[in-house]
Amino acid sequence: MFILEQLRHYASTGRVAFRYGAETVTYAQLDARSDAFAAWLLETLGDDRTPVVLYGHKELSLPACMFGCIKAGRAYVPVDTTFPADRVARILEQVQPKVLVDLRGLGLAAPVALDGAALDAILRRPAAPTPETWVKPGDVVYMLFTSGSTGQPKGVQITAGNIAAFREGVAPLLDLDLDGGVFLNEISYSFDVSVCALYYALSRGMTLYTVDKDTLNQPKALFAALAESGVDLWVSTPSLGEICCQSPKFDQALLPKARKFIFCGEVMTKKLGLQMLDRFPGAKIYNAYGPTETTVLVTAAEITRELCDRGPSLPIGYGFSNLECRIQDPETGAILPDGQAGELVILGDCVSPGYFRRPDLTEKSFFTEGTRRGYRTGDLCASHHGSIDYFGRLDGQVKLNGFRVELEDVEENLLKVPNIARAAVLPETRDGTVQSLTAFVLLEAPDGLSSLQRARQIKTALGQLLPSYMVPRKIVAVDRFPLNTNGKIDKKALAAGLGEGATP
Ligand code: AMP
Repeated sequence: MFILEQLRHYASTGRVAFRYGAETVTYAQLDARSDAFAAWLLETLGDDRTPVVLYGHKELSLPACMFGCIKAGRAYVPVDTTFPADRVARILEQVQPKVLVDLRGLGLAAPVALDGAALDAILRRPAAPTPETWVKPGDVVYMLFTSGSTGQPKGVQITAGNIAAFREGVAPLLDLDLDGGVFLNEISYSFDVSVCALYYALSRGMTLYTVDKDTLNQPKALFAALAESGVDLWVSTPSLGEICCQSPKFDQALLPKARKFIFCGEVMTKKLGLQMLDRFPGAKIYNAYGPTETTVLVTAAEITRELCDRGPSLPIGYGFSNLECRIQDPETGAILPDGQAGELVILGDCVSPGYFRRPDLTEKSFFTEGTRRGYRTGDLCASHHGSIDYFGRLDGQVKLNGFRVELEDVEENLLKVPNIARAAVLPETRDGTVQSLTAFVLLEAPDGLSSLQRARQIKTALGQLLPSYMVPRKIVAVDRFPLNTNGKIDKKALAAGLGEGATP
């Protein structure tokens, strides 16, 4: 696999692969440590190819484990520490891993569970490279678990072939025409956007300047890190861009080498586009788009002042050259003409084989046409001579601060909280961007609590089941729900009650 060959190639250069605070990992160390992990896996697991679960955040040992897994021909499942124990347990139930790396001492059960110390000892062992066992093009490299509408996370499988197609498609966008450079590595490894860092930037000999979520949450620490970083290439959610833009210090003087900013994962506002153009005259700014199911990114638009002046929102741009973006009628599947809104469908080698052990869900969203795999994104879009506009979702999936959330997932988990009989969750939006979630709950019995006490209690209970970013900001108890003719909760009527900005 290309990335593994490139790690070996840069291992002889003395280059730094990761910088995280005062610590660094060179390409030589990354290559040797991943060899050590691969050798240990082969010894421990024999022929068993069950994916390996990696629970942690931005620890420097994690990439060595990931590349170690694929050197041993196995898939890995990165699970971020924002996932609480219950959510992790649901992923473990599905994967049934034989080997689990638990860097936060969550006490997770698996036949072989490694804590940080045990892992470090393994990574230090000398080991010979094992190129003959590396993953092959059709093999799954990783699975990322995303929010699922049933209340259970679903695992998107990505193969070595998918990653090769992604690298090929994204190369013109991420290319800086330089050997090396610094890439901002701030996205949790359990989110697809981190694949740009691991499978593109590292394959180009870049240094991943690593920032963890504690630093991201403290503006002072974040700006100190950015000032020190020397970042050339920035890939983040618009949410992070907006947080940074709140400070006038976020400009080319802070990041003098920054040449490209790629914003992706959620709606990018024109305001952010214009701010970035003003503050970074030496850089190009892009709005890029793609679901986890199509590896990472599949379209991009370079943001210019003319583009910001044109329509009400920014386009997500043109599909990469090695895939097809089609607009289809969501009901009939008919391909729609230019300018007509419908579901965006992606066809190409970057499209995942499907969800892990969920043929039902896979069949709903994926299909094969000739030799090509296709994915129905659920995104409402229209194409204008190849440039795509994004209008929102066809279902109950939202993006909140860059995180993908199925509203039904939150609703299903609310029903697990004691004394909740029914629940409905609505997003509150501004400028086409979701700002927060509100949960409406119908109690089984009066609880005698004030609204504040109840909200606190429900949020605490929900926080045990879901990552904190999925916990609604507001909790509203209702005496009854408005129902539509099907007897289902009428979200439109609820949204009307919530006032401006609420979307059903
Ligand atoms: P994820 O799988 O987490 O990458 O989320 C994919 C979804 O995020 C897409 O299906 C879109 O709904 C949304 N999304 C990703 N990029 C953009 C973008 N540039 N503009 C608007 N929505 C986006």
